[in-house]
Amino acid sequence: MGMALAHKLSADGHIVTVIEHSDKPGGLATWHNFGAFTWDRFYHVILPSDRHLIGLINDLGMSDHLQWQRTYTGFYVDNKLHSISSNMEFLKFPLLSLTSKIRLGFTMLYGSRINNWQKLETQSCEQWLRRVSGNETFEKLWKPLLLAKLGPSYKRVSAVFIWSYIKRMFSARDKSASAEQLGHVKGGYKSIFHTLQNSITSASGNIRLNESVSNIQPTTDDRMHVQTDKQSYDFDHVVCTSPVNVLNQIVSPEMIKLGKPGLEATDQAVSNAGEEVEYLGVVCVVIVSKTPLTHYYVVNIADDSVPFTGLIGMSNVVNPENTENHHLTYLPRYMLSTDDELKKPDNYFKERFLAGIKSMFPDYNMDDIVSVHVNRAIKVQPLQVLNYSNIVPEAQTRHHRLHVLNTSQFVNATLNNNEVIAAVNAFYHTFSNQLQIK
Ligand SMILES: Cc1cc2nc3c(=O)[nH]c(=O)nc-3n(C[C@H](O)[C@H](O)[C@H](O)COP(=O)(O)OP(=O)(O)OC[C@H]3O[C@@H](n4cnc5c(N)ncnc54)[C@H](O)[C@@H]3O)c2cc1C
Repeated sequence: MGMALAHKLSADGHIVTVIEHSDKPGGLATWHNFGAFTWDRFYHVILPSDRHLIGLINDLGMSDHLQWQRTYTGFYVDNKLHSISSNMEFLKFPLLSLTSKIRLGFTMLYGSRINNWQKLETQSCEQWLRRVSGNETFEKLWKPLLLAKLGPSYKRVSAVFIWSYIKRMFSARDKSASAEQLGHVKGGYKSIFHTLQNSITSASGNIRLNESVSNIQPTTDDRMHVQTDKQSYDFDHVVCTSPVNVLNQIVSPEMIKLGKPGLEATDQAVSNAGEEVEYLGVVCVVIVSKTPLTHYYVVNIADDSVPFTGLIGMSNVVNPENTENHHLTYLPRYMLSTDDELKKPDNYFKERFLAGIKSMFPDYNMDDIVSVHVNRAIKVQPLQVLNYSNIVPEAQTRHHRLHVLNTSQFVNATLNNNEVIAAVNAFYHTFSNQLQIK
């Protein structure tokens, strides 16, 4: 978010400084050294409908690097892997009765056509799914999937959570072939971030890595003072793109407005600035192997005997020439960011997840696994609880030189980089006049 905004502002003639805590740019979308090659730390794909993200890729002169692949989807339940990659396979899917399948199809179609998300925010995901999909579909399909992704917190999440997934999944279908097409950029997100870095620095911008912001406050001469662990700066404007917990540590709560854009926050909300925004964290075990584990891009897992919540066969999207002919499989497990399990040592996850792979693929030759990596992130996905939009920080703070832009503000969308770029573009459209130095 920060790098994309800095690129946009630089292109408009502003001199920007990006301050990044890590040694690399990119945040959750950054890269990882897998030994023989480098690829995204977490799995990332691009959908043909990701027009804002594809717009940025084109703008960076990287459209030739965009590659597309037809992909396949699996579903693992009761120790069995089912293919659900076509309508015919879906009709044969044994888990649900024909009536439940029809209701599930209806849920997807109906959900993809809903635009009034505000109404969905007031009802729980469970209530909405039981009403639209029926109890059988909820119990056999939605509930295990929600439990896998959210744990018991699924009960607190609003219908916006599932609706925004349905909308995005629906848009992944290529209408002519009714098959999923997914894409990536040659060289992965690393190549996108390198191009962004070059674009920012060649416009006299400054990217400060390994530097953490500890405080932001107005100066007496109407500028913004930024204190980091290395030095202090005075800027004309500051846009804070960190997660909400960091925002609350570095900015005084009196400065942040909460709630729907245009609504004045209540005093109560101001004093609780952003406290209620909860995040999911993720542990992602990544397997580098000589042979593929599966031909699916994604296997949805609705089986609590498996310790991970999904299986992502990245090499079924990414041409293996990007990964020195190795195959990459990501095994995520999401949990609340406050869950102590997130702090368990790497070996705890390696052992459990490899045992899960053995039970899912008993015929797989485990000697083909070259290396196993454990990547984790604490603040990943904000939890869209009931009436979520009332608790998110507004882009405009109470100080005209300080703005907030982060993924907690996705009140009607799921977490992905297309939304990130859409948010950057919308922010720029709204505030570019205000950001001019007068
Ligand atoms: C497992 C996983 C799978 C995903 N899959 C996809 C996908 O397939 N497609 C897709 O489009 N998106 C995907 N995403 C989502 C995508 O990665 C995010 O949308 C995106 O990274 C959010 O960017 P951001 O800049 O808003 O937040 P972040 O990436 O969290 O960036 C915040 C930055 O702030 C920095 N920071 C925090 N505190 C400070 C401080 N005090 N001082 C300085 N810097 C600080 C952090 O180091 C970080 O770099 C996935 C994410 C995950 C975790």
